[in-house]
Amino acid sequence: MTGLSGACLCGQIRYSTPAVPLVVGHCHCIDCRKSSGTGHSTHILIPEEGFEMTGEPRFYDHPADSRHIVSRGFCADCGSPILSRNSAMPALLALRASSLDDPGAVTPQMIVYASRAPAWDAMDPALPCFAHMPEESAVAEMIGGAAPD
Ligand SMILES: [Zn+2]
Ligand SMILES: [Zn+2]
Repeated sequence: MTGLSGACLCGQIRYSTPAVPLVVGHCHCIDCRKSSGTGHSTHILIPEEGFEMTGEPRFYDHPADSRHIVSRGFCADCGSPILSRNSAMPALLALRASSLDDPGAVTPQMIVYASRAPAWDAMDPALPCFAHMPEESAVAEMIGGAAPD
């Protein structure tokens, strides 16, 4: 079986997607830290096509460094982060790996905003690591699967 599925803690929000992730990454930006409960969030970037969700997340909109608006969707009842959208990437969604039914279904490939990581939130030193958000070309490389192995 392909695809991913997940839910919030209380189960009111549940989703599934047939998508293969474009990229999976840890982000240590302040917004991701504050909304995570620990030092980073782990995002799964997918195309929106085929994404299905029951329940209605509440969204909190906040500008990123790029000035693009990031809308973070979470369960209004249990508070679990579910997904986010970026106004610069309207056809894509970023699922929170914490919401997956099987978190082992994905493998993180990169770390962004590492410069903002707390010292106690150590990450896999084998992963490509960017101090801030990588240039578009670097992201394109990651999405294109051209990452060094
Ligand atoms: Zn919930
Ligand atoms: Zn972030």
